[in-house]
Parts: sequence; structure tokens; C-alpha cells
Amino acid sequence: MSNPGQFIEARVVPIRPRAKGRPVGRSWKFSELLADDTVRARWEKVREYFFLRESTYDMTNRCNIRCDGCYYYEGDKQFARENRDPQAWRALMRAEKERGITYVVLAGAEPALASELLEVCYDEMPLGSIATNGVKFIPESVGYKIHISVWGDDETSLRIRRAKNLLDRQMKNYAGDDRAVFVYTYTRENIDETAGVVERLVANDCKVTFNVFSSPVGYTGPLRHDHGSLVATRRSMIELLERFPDQVLFSPYSAVAHTHAKGLHDLYKCSYPRMNSSTAIGLGRSFRQYRTDLDWDRSAACCVPDTDCPDCRHYASGSAVVTARLHRHAKDPEHFNAWLDYVDTYLAVWVVGYEKGANLQRCQSEPVPPPGFELIPNA
Ligand code: SF4
Repeated sequence: MSNPGQFIEARVVPIRPRAKGRPVGRSWKFSELLADDTVRARWEKVREYFFLRESTYDMTNRCNIRCDGCYYYEGDKQFARENRDPQAWRALMRAEKERGITYVVLAGAEPALASELLEVCYDEMPLGSIATNGVKFIPESVGYKIHISVWGDDETSLRIRRAKNLLDRQMKNYAGDDRAVFVYTYTRENIDETAGVVERLVANDCKVTFNVFSSPVGYTGPLRHDHGSLVATRRSMIELLERFPDQVLFSPYSAVAHTHAKGLHDLYKCSYPRMNSSTAIGLGRSFRQYRTDLDWDRSAACCVPDTDCPDCRHYASGSAVVTARLHRHAKDPEHFNAWLDYVDTYLAVWVVGYEKGANLQRCQSEPVPPPGFELIPNA
């Protein structure tokens, strides 16, 4: 997450030619984009969160399952020594606050195995989220958002995560828990399973959002997407969003952004330090990715380190990279509204207590392409 507010421009020009089939528009003033009361209310709602400044933290190098294609066990971060000293973590959180961090993402490998450290972080920094496989319950006293990873149905989970009855175990821990969002990761192989899994989650009072498998560096296995699987993934996302608008936290533009033939960096220019040498503003200035030894390395810092950048369509990346590109979307009402839907979605997924509104763009309408690009064909 970064600060989109810093990119506001009074007038957004010039207008570039739009994607095929869309007329070239006129220049819009920002005030004109807010003329509609619903749009203005949504803008006012999301801009309250522009203060969020994230960094991410590997809590432990241990995990209680082992998944194919896990980016944590790529690269050298997995070999960092574990610092399990609560006082060291408390000191780190205090220092992070001092340098302006307001939001923590606690991940790698399985944070639930370090629950005493989660308590310390929450005590110092009350806004944040935890990425977990959901096998072990995180105490209610840790009031962060909890993202539970789902990679397919039970058969698939057994095969690629070596975990039996995983969805049942995850739901037993987190069904009805306001902190929880189940994050379904589409791979090339599990698209047809998604509807069944989402139906089970919805029937059990669970909220769902979508992720797109993004290959770790060097990964060429069967989970990696190709053109056909991206097209099918987008179609599936939109169908499920249309069927379950209250339980599926997503938007039509989120589907477009994460299933394009080009990855997020090519579409939006990634602002994480690993791909951004500027230290002047935004994530390039403030973001750090701490390893389990509480050290960090600017050259490797992003929210999904050791992911192959050209293949990066990760939901966590998009939450910062797309959100930061307000100025590129504030060029006409359809792109601006699509961006507002995207930001509204990411806040509902990442911030406890934030309620998602109805998407401004309807599922039935023609999807809005990323600014300056066309949609992938046949989507
Ligand atoms: S993996 Fe994604 S988020 Fe990380 S630096 Fe590459 S493009 Fe950016």
C-alpha cells in the first residue's frame, strides 16, 4: 500500500488514444470526475486511508505445510536466522512507527507459528494483516486482517500443498471471523475448481477475494499461467463476483488488472524498491521487507520477494502498484471509477472494519482496460 493522494493533479492531460473500440475522450478536470454524488462519496471514503504506509515482515522461517510454487522458499531469505525475542520485535515496531510506517504485513513462512510475536506487533502497530495457510488458529487478541490462502479444492490442496481436508480445517478456524478473508489463488490448473470452493466458503459465512499465481523466479511448473488460463481466470472471477457480490471482495477492474497478458510491472510500473531505484517518494522511499533476522535488503525489497517480476500478478502487489497510479486513472470517469472500485476492494481486503461498497462499474459492462493498454483478446 502506498499513498495515492500524493499523485493528485488538478487537471489530467494529455488524453492518449484509448484502447480499441473506445472513443478518444476529452480532458477532464478532477472536479468533474467527482460531480456524481456516489462517486464523490466513494472518493471521500477511500481517501481517509491515504495515510497507510506499509512494510512487510517475515515472522518465522518455519511452516507447517509445504506448497509447490511457494515464493518464501525461493532465494536466500529462507536461510535467515530467526529472531524470536519479543523485545527485539517491539523495538523494531517502535522504530518503524518513528520512520512513518502505519501498516504491517506479517508473513513468511507461517506467522501463526509465532503468535507471541504477532501479539507484540499488534500491541505496537494496530493496523495490518497476516498471510497464513489457516491451519493454526491465530488468537482473537491479534486484531489484524487475516488472509487465508486457498489454492484449489481438497484434492488439489492434498496434491500441491500436501494437506488433507484443508478447506474444512481453514473454515473451522475462521468461518464467521470478521478478521478473515479467504484468498483464492488461481493457478493454471485449478480454474474449474473455483466455483465449488467459493460456494462452500460463501455457505459457511466466509469472505473471499482472488489472487493470481505469480511464479517464483525460475519456476516453470504447471501452476504458471498462460494466455488461455488468464482468459479463463478473468471469466471465472467476473462470474463469481456477479453471483456473490456481498461475499466476494473484488471488482471488474481488479479482474482486468490481474489477468492481463502483461504483468503488473509492465502495466503500472511497480513502485517497490526491487524494481524502483528512486528513494524520493512513496514505496521507493519507505518500504522495507524484513527477514526473520530483522535485517532487510533494499535491492530485494518487495511484498512478494523472489517472485518473477514479468509474471507478477499478485494481489498484494496490486494493492500498492495499481492504487498508487491515481493520476493515470483520473483521465476520464470510466477509468477513475474503475480505480475507485479497485481501491475500495483492496481496503476491504486489507483493513479491519472497512466495508466494501457496491462496485461503481457493473460486471455486465464492457471491462475498462488498464490506461494505455488494450484488454487481452477474447476475455
Ligand atoms: S515481484 Fe511484483 S511487486 Fe515484487 S518487485 Fe517484482 S513486480 Fe514488483
